[in-house]
Amino acid sequence: MPPLRILAIHAHPDDIEFQCAGTLALLLERGCTIHMATMTAGDCGSAELGPEEISAVRRGEAKAAADLLGAEYTCLEFKDLAVCVDNDSRRRVTEVVRRTRPDIVITAPPVDYMSDHELTSRLVRDATFNASCPNYVTHQWDPAPATSRIPALYYVDPIEGVDWYGVPIEPDFTVDISRTFELKLNMLACHDSQRAWLRKQHGLDEYLDGCRRWSAQRGQLIGTTYGESFRQHKGHPYPHDNVLLEALRAEG
Ligand SMILES: [Zn+2]
Repeated sequence: MPPLRILAIHAHPDDIEFQCAGTLALLLERGCTIHMATMTAGDCGSAELGPEEISAVRRGEAKAAADLLGAEYTCLEFKDLAVCVDNDSRRRVTEVVRRTRPDIVITAPPVDYMSDHELTSRLVRDATFNASCPNYVTHQWDPAPATSRIPALYYVDPIEGVDWYGVPIEPDFTVDISRTFELKLNMLACHDSQRAWLRKQHGLDEYLDGCRRWSAQRGQLIGTTYGESFRQHKGHPYPHDNVLLEALRAEG
């Protein structure tokens, strides 16, 4: 199998690290190219710094985490708590899909604890579809050509793995990330502004401890130390083959 191109796109800086960085590290080992993108720069992620200041800090943290992995990083410059589904937003996300030409897209789940996550999921789903329509115009600077096909689309876990009613959302499959877990944790630790904020609130290193607990819980599903779980979008006309699992099983 030729090396695959992977686009991981979630709402805020640190969401990708929490939910799928261990899997991305495994894919990278198998020769895949990884592009990480966040919808926002995390402008509401501070009780002390203003939106411009904290955004600058968090763009740097996200870039540092991507560098640690060996991935490219793009921020789409939406604003926290203001991601919405409209045609301008669809065009902006479609342009990222066209520029990165992914075989696999990993994104936020359709149901999650807050709307930036849910609407990111919707926009990415629309963008993966729209990107292959040549007559769909993104109105972006120097627009990329339409993609040749619709990529395989995967959703990460919602926070705590539950829907709005606290009912567990069962994943389709879980990836053993025990070998890449330390890298995932180191990537998460790059988001020092968020780690420090939580540490101040809880008096504990809840940022990293929470990630360790959740990854261990997912690992239990398949009898490994740490895991990350996914669901695959199977609506018409998306690929139904589990391209992600096939890529993980391929020779490095
Ligand atoms: Zn988030």
